[in-house]
Amino acid sequence: MNWIDLRSDTVTQPTRAMREAMLDVEVGDDVYGEDPTVNALQRRLADDLGFAAGLFVPSGTQSNLLALMSHCERGDEYIVGAEAHTYKFEGGGAAVLGSIQPQPIAHDADGTLPLEKVAAAIKPIDPHFARTRLLALENTWHGRVLPLDYLRAAGEFARERGLALHLDGARLYNAAVAAGVPAREIAQHFDSVSVCLSKGLAAPVGSVLVGSAALIEKARRWRKVAGGGWRQAGLLAAACLHALDHHVARLADDHARAARLAGSLREIAGVKLLGQHTNMVFIDVPGERLRELDAHLRSASIRISIGYLPTLRLVTHLDVDDEGVDRVIAAFASFFAQGAA
Ligand SMILES: *Cc1c(COP(=O)(O)O)cnc(C)c1O
Repeated sequence: MNWIDLRSDTVTQPTRAMREAMLDVEVGDDVYGEDPTVNALQRRLADDLGFAAGLFVPSGTQSNLLALMSHCERGDEYIVGAEAHTYKFEGGGAAVLGSIQPQPIAHDADGTLPLEKVAAAIKPIDPHFARTRLLALENTWHGRVLPLDYLRAAGEFARERGLALHLDGARLYNAAVAAGVPAREIAQHFDSVSVCLSKGLAAPVGSVLVGSAALIEKARRWRKVAGGGWRQAGLLAAACLHALDHHVARLADDHARAARLAGSLREIAGVKLLGQHTNMVFIDVPGERLRELDAHLRSASIRISIGYLPTLRLVTHLDVDDEGVDRVIAAFASFFAQGAA
């Protein structure tokens, strides 16, 4: 039986059509700026999102790091969600490699950072303090789509306060598809946006950072410093272009499957549905049965990731079809039926 992997949308395999799209592309040395396919991808995303320039990079972590290092200098500060990827899940890169101090703020339940809390965290201009330069948001955040009116307010706030505004849009297209708006309508409020092609869009590798020409010039320099200058990366860019052509609208299928999965899990005694947002389902199960549940699912060729919490995140993606969702529901049902016996 084929495996159903619900750990993340990063686990997708490149489709046959995507592999074929990689075969005959023109490539060149991207460190010299000579890879036509990389240049086309950068142009495509910059145009799509309404920015002057783009930079293709190996990962979302590097893309966010380059953005932070291009907006901020040593001794500057960025304000960020305490549960944001950029702050919590990127090894502290901004501080470690950029000498940029993070100022974390608690998220509201919808993933927004309350602007009055952000305002209160901005430091006075005084040698005692780091210089607050940037506000970083994330959309989607744990699958949640940030409200469009919040983004507008955040954009106005940042401009008034002289802060740059960065979006970790690893799953920007999930947000756009779920909100029913072009991605540009979300991106327009920001000075830079990082987009992952390797998540729900199902390319094997790659993220793109977009921003002004000056910002992207700085980011290109930092990419080289960080060891991210790559050569015939057009092979990967071709997969990303294919993903943009073929895998954006279909994100709605992942969202619908996540909703169906959530609806069925909610009916199973023993499973507590915490929420479903875009392609993510969050559930609690009894902590003492977690390992047993994991073993049961593995025996049904289903992979989940279990941490030390009873909260599980189940993620739908290109390689989870309707039959896969049925199998997951059946496996949860049979496990909790056993427990009840
Ligand atoms: C995955 C992810 C990243 C980083 O992407 P990598 O390519 O894994 O480095 C950044 N932000 C968010 C919200 C993500 O989910």
